[in-house]
Amino acid sequence: MSLMIGKNAVVSIHYTLKNDDGQVMDSSEGRDPLSYLHGANNLIPGLEKELEGKSAGQNFTASIDPAEAYGESNPELVQKISKEMFQGVEQIEPGMAFTAQGPQGQQQVVVTAVEGDEVTVDANHPMAGKTLHFDVEVVDVRDATDEELEHGHVHG
Ligand code: ZN
Repeated sequence: MSLMIGKNAVVSIHYTLKNDDGQVMDSSEGRDPLSYLHGANNLIPGLEKELEGKSAGQNFTASIDPAEAYGESNPELVQKISKEMFQGVEQIEPGMAFTAQGPQGQQQVVVTAVEGDEVTVDANHPMAGKTLHFDVEVVDVRDATDEELEHGHVHG
């Protein structure tokens, strides 16, 4: 008897996430499997859909479009700001990440370009606009406890 993945299941998976170029972006390899409460928006929607109905021991691959992952990249979240905004930072270079105060509270921004006194920052999620390619192994499926359901997340 093995449980199928559905709402209120606690699921443990091993996964490797690659981008379109086949580059590994993230992986649970060498770590504990990722455990999550299914149906509680703890995973990107596209991956939850792929996991639905699977059971422990199953392996699969899935390619998830941006709309079902971290969304499309929003050009309004890309801004040019003055270097003076980065007080205390000696050298500003593309790829650097900063925490900035935005309208929705603190947000992570990444420097994408530096031209003279002008710095371009991108507040989109780093995976926004990207198709995600997953290799997944379902390690374990169990029923959530009442407390886990109440909290909306898995307890360790
Ligand atoms: Zn809790």
